[in-house]
Formats: sequence, structure tokens, C-alpha cells
Amino acid sequence: MRPSVPVPPAPSPDRLPGLPPLPATATQRIGGIDYTDARVFFARYGLKATELQSGHRLRVQDGANVIELDADQHDALVNGLIVFLGEPVVMRGSALFISKIDAEHLFAPLVQPGRFAAFTPPVHTIVLDAGHGGIDPGAQNAALNVNEKTCALDVVLRLRTLLEARGFKVVLTRTSDHELSTDKPTDLSMRAELAGRVGADLFISVHFNAAPPAVHGTETFIMTPQSQASTQAEKDKAMIPTAYPGNRVDPLNAVLGYAIHRRLTSELGSMDRGLKHARFEVLRLENCPSVLIESGYISSDTEGRKIATPAYRQKIAEGIASGVAAYLAQLAGTRK
Ligand SMILES: [Zn+2]
Repeated sequence: MRPSVPVPPAPSPDRLPGLPPLPATATQRIGGIDYTDARVFFARYGLKATELQSGHRLRVQDGANVIELDADQHDALVNGLIVFLGEPVVMRGSALFISKIDAEHLFAPLVQPGRFAAFTPPVHTIVLDAGHGGIDPGAQNAALNVNEKTCALDVVLRLRTLLEARGFKVVLTRTSDHELSTDKPTDLSMRAELAGRVGADLFISVHFNAAPPAVHGTETFIMTPQSQASTQAEKDKAMIPTAYPGNRVDPLNAVLGYAIHRRLTSELGSMDRGLKHARFEVLRLENCPSVLIESGYISSDTEGRKIATPAYRQKIAEGIASGVAAYLAQLAGTRK
């Protein structure tokens, strides 16, 4: 399917050079899941901890990042942005614990992405995927006469221009209003397969969302790590223990997803609905770092009106392009 060699899996942060070993006393099995003492885990990366609310809230920070964890919460604040976790934060004794998978696959790459640079091939080719197309309009707002497939393609065409100007080779899954297959599962797998065929180094899928009219905001999805349920839990529980191609690059997915989510919400000033996890077909079948962006709610009266304007769609493209640049800068060890 992919002519080039897939990205080798990044090693567990516990095996990255230059990190002291995690003491065995910092690990506990809670509810059948391996958990790590958050304070001890982050201290290994040089983040200092402050306990708040009698230990129910923990803030860890260094010069670049501030992370806030709350007992029993399924999400964390990373530099003020919502990041959903695979497992809730748990209080044991007077300490807060985070799941080992969240610690290693999510927090470690977010706080020190540069540690993963040695395991990251350079980015030459970026595949952009405009969601839906042809007989599948995606989300629609009849009152405003806009639909998802048209706006997604417009954003992707704008993004192509921006990324080509930065020197990337850009390949689109579709360049006009057509579906890749009239069969839904095949259509999605064809998008992933195309990325494999052209040797994509990054895969970015652009969508818009729909919900009751009051709902608005931006959410960004990355592949769910093996053994964890997605943010919206899978109906097919057999998927949860399965290792998919997209899991080979879990830490890089986290860095890419966060970088794009941060830049995009900042560029748009849109409501932060969080960095989330999903086993979407286009994410789980990719061999390279991948992200699916729900840029905004086309169904919202106010946000839908903005999405209908070329100026706002240009801002979406610029936010995503800026996120790609931030991702590469962070892996190169340059905070940006
Ligand atoms: Zn969609």
C-alpha cells in the first residue's frame, strides 16, 4: 500500500536517552490500569508542581508549559487549552495519578517534543483531505446555504497554497466536488490509502461539524492510543485493544494535533472544544502523523455565517499552516 518504509514507532519515553528512570513506587495499578504519580512523572521532565485545592488540583510548569490536572477529570488544561485524556485523573492518598499511557503518549511529547525529533523523518509530502464530496455533502446549514464538502475543499485549496509556499509537496485526496467512492467505508479507506501511496509525511483532514444551532467551536482529533477508549467511546469494543498503523506514531500525533489545535483556535478566536481522540478510519490507517480537524460548526448561526465567508476560511487555512510550522519547530527543539 505504501511504497516507502513506514515511520518506525517512537520509543516509550521511559527509554528515551537522558531521562532518569521512573521509580517503581511512582506507579500504581488502579482499576486494572497502570497509573503514574503525576508529580513524580513531570519532575523527571523538569516541571515544578504546585498543589491547589487541598491537593485535588495540581499545576505543573516550566518556562514553556503550564499543565493543570484535576482529580476525577477526564481532561487537562495544557497552556489553557483543553486536552482530553484516555483515563481520568485519580487521587490516591494525597497525590494525583495519570494513566501511564496518557503520561507517555500524550504528556511526554507535549512537554518535550524535541525528545522525539530523532525518531521523526523530515516532512516533505503533506496530504490534505477535504472531507466528504460528491453525493456526500457532509454537514449542511440550509438557512445559510452552505455545506461542509464545499467549505472543506475551499480551506484545503487555500492551505495547499500556503504550504507550497513553505516548500512542501502537497497532495490532495480530492481537488473538486466528487467522492472517492460511493461506498462510505471504501471512500474513507481510499483517502488513507492515497496518503500511503504518495508517501505522506503528514496527513491533515479538514471537516466542519453540525449540532443544534447554539453549539459552536473548534475540536481537533488524533488517533486514540491502543488500549484506551476514544473521547466518544467506541461502539465496537474490539477496536480498543487493537494496534492500528496510526498507533505507531502516537507521540507525534499528540504534538501535531496540539500544535494545530492551539494555532487554529488562536487564529480564529473560536471556542476551544478540545484536543480529542478518535479511531476514525482516516486516522487509524495512516502510517504518518495525522489529524482530523472539525474547524467549526457550520450549523451554528454565528459560526456558520463566519464559515460562509472566504476571509474566515483563509484564517482557518492560516491557522492550520501555522500549526504545521509550530509542529516542525517543536520537533526541531525550537519553541515557537
Ligand atoms: Zn465531516
